[in-house]
Amino acid sequence: MTALVWYRNDLRVHDHQALAAAVSSGLPVRALYLLCPGQWEAHQVAPLRRWYVLSSLRELGQALAALGIVLDVIDCGDFAGVPQALADYCRRHQVSQLFCTREYPLNELRRDRAVADVLGGLGIALQGFDDSVLVPPRALKTGQGTPYTVFTPYRRRWQHYLDEHPPAPPARPRKREAVAFRDDNSLRKALAALDVPASLQAHWQPGEAAARRRLQGFVREGLAGYKAQRDFPAQAGTSLLSVALSAGTLSVQRCYLMAREAMAREADTEEGALVWIGELAWRDFYRQIMANFPHLAWGAPFREETKWLQWQRDEQCFQAWCEGRTGYPLVDAAMRQLNQTGWMHNRLRMVTAMFLTKHLFIDWRWGEAYFMRQLLDGDFAANNGGWQWSASTGTDAAPYFRVFSPIRQSERFDPDGVFIKQYVPELHGLTGKALHQPWLAPMLAPDYPSPIVQHEGVRERVTAAFQQARDIG
Ligand code: FAD
Repeated sequence: MTALVWYRNDLRVHDHQALAAAVSSGLPVRALYLLCPGQWEAHQVAPLRRWYVLSSLRELGQALAALGIVLDVIDCGDFAGVPQALADYCRRHQVSQLFCTREYPLNELRRDRAVADVLGGLGIALQGFDDSVLVPPRALKTGQGTPYTVFTPYRRRWQHYLDEHPPAPPARPRKREAVAFRDDNSLRKALAALDVPASLQAHWQPGEAAARRRLQGFVREGLAGYKAQRDFPAQAGTSLLSVALSAGTLSVQRCYLMAREAMAREADTEEGALVWIGELAWRDFYRQIMANFPHLAWGAPFREETKWLQWQRDEQCFQAWCEGRTGYPLVDAAMRQLNQTGWMHNRLRMVTAMFLTKHLFIDWRWGEAYFMRQLLDGDFAANNGGWQWSASTGTDAAPYFRVFSPIRQSERFDPDGVFIKQYVPELHGLTGKALHQPWLAPMLAPDYPSPIVQHEGVRERVTAAFQQARDIG
């Protein structure tokens, strides 16, 4: 008999409950990753993210081999192929127990139900762990017994829960006799089939070891200043750990515990650590929204009445936004950052998403899909939550009458244009007011586009559109 760890978005050996449980079963342990390229296509997963996952898998295979565990990688097409592939594998290796980390989006839930049915028929016990979140998505309910849909009260209860149930991630399993690492054929083929420019790869280091180093570096050097610096894209003020958290090369429990330990050790870290822990709470918040409101996976807005909004279907404006040619420096620099590195600063995700949905009044689902196709850290719950927040269609959304001014945001968060000039070289000759409004000095930036839309009047247009949607509904 064998215990099997089925790896998904949890590509690590440290702080891994499913792996620890499999090892403590006392049975020989194997590990499996099922490649689903068809699902990646359907979910529009960015090539860069696929590269990160596949490269991290290779490192995981080596780490598991050193613990005496073989990692097999099998291509099963898409989620529909998973139950059969697992059943075949379990028969072949006499698996009697299967361990995994739970996932919450709708397609993943359906996949796992189908797997439970098939494996149940074979008498295989299946055990899942809520290891990708700090607080399990159905653990907290409001006084009315409903899921939380507003962040601030959720955050309070979330912290209370964690104070009562502090995370206690298991240690990495002890070494057994190492097995040889086989560089899996399916993995090699999948990596070779990817077309990701080296210039894009150069920004990132896949794998658990790099993620753990980044966390240590951030806690040491970035946590204390996080509150003051996190909104300024020209500064390295945030952790850049989103890809590690979404692919599970790092556990969110480790992040939380290291931030708490730093707070306890150094008083001047407290302010920054509390704000950073608040971001981990946002991550859990959107995951519990996704788990409790699965219809969001069909592209539905959370606020029912906003389904009547008459979005513009302007392909040309959308293309200009995608390529960073809107004529608004901060928006354009942000979109070019996304295209050139696969990542975008959080403040700029809000600015660009609001610009698309409020200034251009283009459907948030277009932007959500574009982000997924580019982002290294593309994560359905966080991306959908962020887009619906920005478009004022979501749970705890920005009110529809709040419209970020791309000029004001630029002046506040990149006052000297250090970030803007890094990505928009056409603006090198500009300073002061003209840097944020280049149309004031068109002769100094002849290659830079004029604004595709005026900021003036946007609030009124958006307010009227939301009013109209309410009237229709
Ligand atoms: P830090 O500031 O260091 O934060 C630490 C961690 O907290 C992050 O790594 C992330 O896991 C989590 N986090 C931070 N902010 C948020 C947030 N607002 N919502 C949920 N989790 C958060 N995040 C993703 O991981 N994947 C996405 O696809 C994604 N799409 C987004 C789309 C839009 C329109 C918006 C407004 C936000 C989106 N975010 C997404 C949230 C946020 O922008 C990123 O998590 C953050 O920029 C990652 O950088 P960091 O790791 O340096 O974050």
